[in-house]
Amino acid sequence: MTIDLNDFDSSKVVASDRKHVWHHITQHKPFEQNDPMVIVEGKGMRVRDARGNEYLDAVSGGVWTVNVGYGRESIADAVRDQLVKMNYFAQSAGNVPAAFFAEKLIEKMPGMSRVYYSNSGSEANEKAFKIVRQIAQKKYGGKKYKILFRERDYHGTTITALSATGQFERKNQYGPFTPGFVEFPHCCEYRSQFGDVSDYGVRAALEMEKVILAEGPETVGAVCLEPITAGGGVITPPHGYWEKIQEICRKYDILLHIDEVVCGLGRTGTWFGYQHYGIKPDIVTMAKGVASGYAAISCTVTTEEVFEAFKDDASDRMGYFRDISTFGGCTAGPAAALANMQIIEEENLLENVTQMGEYLLGRLRQLQDRYEVIGDVRGKGLFCGLELVKDRQTREPVDESLPIAIAADCMKQGVIIGRTNRSFEQFNNTLCLSPALIATQADLDEIVEALDNAFARLAPNS
Ligand code: PLP
Repeated sequence: MTIDLNDFDSSKVVASDRKHVWHHITQHKPFEQNDPMVIVEGKGMRVRDARGNEYLDAVSGGVWTVNVGYGRESIADAVRDQLVKMNYFAQSAGNVPAAFFAEKLIEKMPGMSRVYYSNSGSEANEKAFKIVRQIAQKKYGGKKYKILFRERDYHGTTITALSATGQFERKNQYGPFTPGFVEFPHCCEYRSQFGDVSDYGVRAALEMEKVILAEGPETVGAVCLEPITAGGGVITPPHGYWEKIQEICRKYDILLHIDEVVCGLGRTGTWFGYQHYGIKPDIVTMAKGVASGYAAISCTVTTEEVFEAFKDDASDRMGYFRDISTFGGCTAGPAAALANMQIIEEENLLENVTQMGEYLLGRLRQLQDRYEVIGDVRGKGLFCGLELVKDRQTREPVDESLPIAIAADCMKQGVIIGRTNRSFEQFNNTLCLSPALIATQADLDEIVEALDNAFARLAPNS
């Protein structure tokens, strides 16, 4: 039987999905009562499911990915043309879009130099960890092998990326983990662990230094952090935090690895999140927005200095980076990434994100004035979080059932919003918004109106 993807019976697709597809990060039991949502079409910021329901997507494909919006013909055309001409060759050789995208990307990242291609955020981070481990061998006799990560940050789904993740639900039952990964405390000012202090950012960064000292600086090769924590609660860094983190890394000769899988490619109004904070990273990883989900691509980008360590002298048989990712050689990824970047440039989307981000934060703060349950509103660009609390004084988080109910209510109104995952028994109380970078004021008004209605129904001030 030939399957026509443009002409099919929608009840059949739902039945096939229900019978055979194992959905990601999903409890399947509820499907016994309700059909799975099967998305069939998208244009701009809107998607339609197999049942014909239309939604405004306020989370860019559910997980902050479709930065330039759905239905971009220029990306689809670029990918098609490239695939017909040359679809694949192992990345030990080069290919045309990979070379040109690397050049364009490095133009946006002063101080960085080399691009290593793979397929997912987890994989890009794994590459970074392997680079750090190999540098430990090459330069430090194997000693500087430890990698520090932060509580509440997420770095991916493979066992080692999970080893570097500070979220309980994601990790629970998947251990034992890769040795040599060490957690340090998060920097959420709203959840300040030191009370209300004016130098909170510096205090939070010094928590990292304490862990470095406890482990022994001579054993720590790198720290890996999200510039703004995404799934862990949209945690924007407190003032002074990044300067101090950078200073501590320099002091102990520790590589700074920034995970831009969510913030990269314009989400916060600059090409990369770290560029707001004057950070000079050694390694940057990126994935989701690189090609906005039109093709699978991720990049591990390093400085020339990091790359230099791998310019082996020919006498060392093991001196080069002995890593390969088969589909890192698929040309669809960089072809899509080039077209994606062109859209961001031609449509001035960074500027749009900055303006619309301020507008959205302003509207969300108005909601906060009206609903006691909204304890904190935070974000940067089109990347915002609303933390819900039972009491603004004590900041006691609401039960997880409330953000779930608010998201479900918005969905019924035709707006898809996100929320923090359940990793945090306490802090699974944040609603997340990350609309496409093309969002207009009218789109944002529609999102805020849905939230307003949901709060009015489910959490009116009492
Ligand atoms: N890093 C961050 C900050 C993420 O949010 C994610 C995914 O959500 C990843 C890494 C993993 O990316 P992927 O799912 O493409 O492996």
